[in-house]
Amino acid sequence: MPYMACIVPEPELAFPPLRVLIAAPRGFCAGVDRAIQIVELALERFGAPVYVRHEIVHNRFVVDRLRELGAIFVDELDEVPDDRPVVFSAHGVPKSVPAAAQSRDLTYVDATCPLVSKVHRQAQRMIEEGRHILFIGHAGHPEVIGTFGQVPEGSITLVETVEDAQSIQIPAAGNLAFLTQTTLSVDDTAAIVETLTRRFPQIRAPRSEDICYATSNRQAAVKAIAGECDRMLVIGAPNSSNSLRLAEVAERLGVPSRLIERATDIDWDWLDQPTTVGITAGASAPEVLVREVVDALRSRFHVTEEVADHSPERMIFKLPRELLPDRAA
Ligand code: SF4
Repeated sequence: MPYMACIVPEPELAFPPLRVLIAAPRGFCAGVDRAIQIVELALERFGAPVYVRHEIVHNRFVVDRLRELGAIFVDELDEVPDDRPVVFSAHGVPKSVPAAAQSRDLTYVDATCPLVSKVHRQAQRMIEEGRHILFIGHAGHPEVIGTFGQVPEGSITLVETVEDAQSIQIPAAGNLAFLTQTTLSVDDTAAIVETLTRRFPQIRAPRSEDICYATSNRQAAVKAIAGECDRMLVIGAPNSSNSLRLAEVAERLGVPSRLIERATDIDWDWLDQPTTVGITAGASAPEVLVREVVDALRSRFHVTEEVADHSPERMIFKLPRELLPDRAA
């Protein structure tokens, strides 16, 4: 595995030595980056306040910064005044949400990640083909709610576990398809898909993998460093699906792991006196929080920092045309 050179020499030799191995890729994905830019551009274009339905991405630090810039986060559309614009979050929304915005003549910008929109389009296509969809995902996650809201009620069934896949009863089992949430565990999903295809050999798979590149890459990066780590710190929100999966991946490889939002969440007793600590960050966690955690480690250890460069990412998603400068009135 290629490692980049150590970055900063450390003077505090009295501290115990600690190797900090930072996974790469980590942190912001193209969909999160785009969603945050959409709120910033909407604030520039329309002025404050701009309303945002739900957390634009699952990270308190990001949400607080946008709130300071003039964003107001709400749970539902009826909290948005008629004369203010609203942005829909990166996780996607049921069809009924833009429809309700249109019926009120609200100005809205959809920050749904293009990879989530791709799943929405696939769901619609499968329904047009007369199929019943088995959707692999986590109950209650906004992305799942958004995808279920693309198709008629009763035409899609949630499958959360291998046990669900083994026991689920479907009336029209001959005409099935499956789709998945974008931020699942690659390994868990493979086991569920394997069970479904064994039970329903005719089931139609999505045209391409639904688990997104960012989720897969971050899990692979954790696997690449786990064997060298005594502890793993995953920076991300407790409601961030892809961040939770990173901690699970490390735990399953035998590395005690903690999901933390910020450096202040580090449990020093749990961390103990490790030789090597791995650090990664979920797709909605900004790099500044990684630096904050490394700095906190430096306050107690003589840190040698390495970046394990697993697989560079170059994905960029286009911004909505209506927010681009040459479109502004
Ligand atoms: S984690 Fe994947 S699906 Fe979610 S916003 Fe990022 S790129 Fe899009």
